[in-house]
Amino acid sequence: MRYVSTRGGAQPQKFSDILLEGLASDGGLYVPESFPKADLAGWRKLSYPDLAFAILSGFMDDVPDLESIVRATYTREIFGSDDITPLQALEPGFHLLGLSNGPTLAFKDVALQLLGRLFESVLEKQKRNLNILGATSGDTGSAAEHALRGRRGINVFMLSPQGRMSAFQRAQMYSLQDANIHNLAIKGTFDDCQDLVKAVNADAAFKARHRIGAVNSINWARVAAQVVYYFKGYFAATPSEGGQVSFAVPSGNFGNIYAGHVARAMGLPLRRLILASNENDVLDQFFKTGTYRIRKSAQPTSSPSMDISKASNFERYVHGLAGAERVRQLWQELDAAGEFRLPPPFDIVSGRSTHADRVATIRWLYEQFGVMVDPHTADGIKVGLEHVGPGEPLICLETAQPVKFAETLHEALGREPARPAAFEGLEQRPQRVEVMDADAAALKRYIAEHAQ
Ligand SMILES: *Cc1c(COP(=O)(O)O)cnc(C)c1O
Repeated sequence: MRYVSTRGGAQPQKFSDILLEGLASDGGLYVPESFPKADLAGWRKLSYPDLAFAILSGFMDDVPDLESIVRATYTREIFGSDDITPLQALEPGFHLLGLSNGPTLAFKDVALQLLGRLFESVLEKQKRNLNILGATSGDTGSAAEHALRGRRGINVFMLSPQGRMSAFQRAQMYSLQDANIHNLAIKGTFDDCQDLVKAVNADAAFKARHRIGAVNSINWARVAAQVVYYFKGYFAATPSEGGQVSFAVPSGNFGNIYAGHVARAMGLPLRRLILASNENDVLDQFFKTGTYRIRKSAQPTSSPSMDISKASNFERYVHGLAGAERVRQLWQELDAAGEFRLPPPFDIVSGRSTHADRVATIRWLYEQFGVMVDPHTADGIKVGLEHVGPGEPLICLETAQPVKFAETLHEALGREPARPAAFEGLEQRPQRVEVMDADAAALKRYIAEHAQ
């Protein structure tokens, strides 16, 4: 399998050559030249690791130890059950697909646990080291740290805004004692953290000297890993061949739902792919009107992992619709005017969910089914139910555990979710964090001293 840029201006590359890269040299994102074909009958009965290997070997055909990496990743020890992503029927045809049973209780673990092992293996073969630099407002940073802790040849420098994350989120990151994990609490906002990452990356000489890399949501391996659970959920919800299902996906950077789009391109019989936005509804506006208008900044909400001002993976979807030539033009328009237009209709439908909607949905699910869901999952359910007719099977993706968002759960239910045993006393564990001014020179000094 070879990978090309969404803007058409970079040499085709093998998977192992794009794995550690961020953007392509022309500023685009890598996409595969074609999509492998699904074998629905052959895949239906496979266990999660077997299914993952069948799907991923089509995208990662130059990773010789892929099978052992996949088998080491998708285990009961890491994801809590042999199903890895268990499907729960709330009533006939209305399902939750549990994607948040990994080490940090958010769906990002499904892809990042694989990515950590892929990075380690490819770096070892290339006899290279990598220093991952990232900024987080919560879920991504902790999922990345838990995926990369203790891995050979990798250091992680993760910036977070001091005092702006929940005590639980802070503890998930700062309690890691691994020598290769460096938590840097920046005196500033999440935007300041992102600006610092940009400033370091803009210094090409520094970046090359210290082998600076990233694990952001545009990494193709993350998309590919997420394709697997769409098939898994489909097989679990359709007892025999031939059925169709719809998926509802709480969306931010468009990585999760884009994986569903890829699954459909491979042959998954999807009826509707339903995108849920929160108050930051850039994507909902696009799918309703055809105008993609990015914002200056995102508005903080109670489903914070969907707070975006633009959606980084969206360019891949537009590439599939309109091709590289058009992507180049549209992103020039976007840089100049902050928006572009594409004519509807699209093969994704969408809706918007607000704070009041998610609180009401959390309450309704608890009263109706005795099930607690987190605010992001609630956004997906609210919008999903608006788009399916009676008797039409719906799978709502559960993207985080409610315990991570205890405050909103308390507002909705007057009580807090139970905590999984492994997380008892998390906030009381010793923490390792370096507090730093929002100063690029100081950050570079720190990296230079601690990089390997
Ligand atoms: C990251 C995240 C999302 C959004 O996923 P995208 O791939 O960015 O669209 C939704 N819910 C939770 C809990 C997340 O962590």
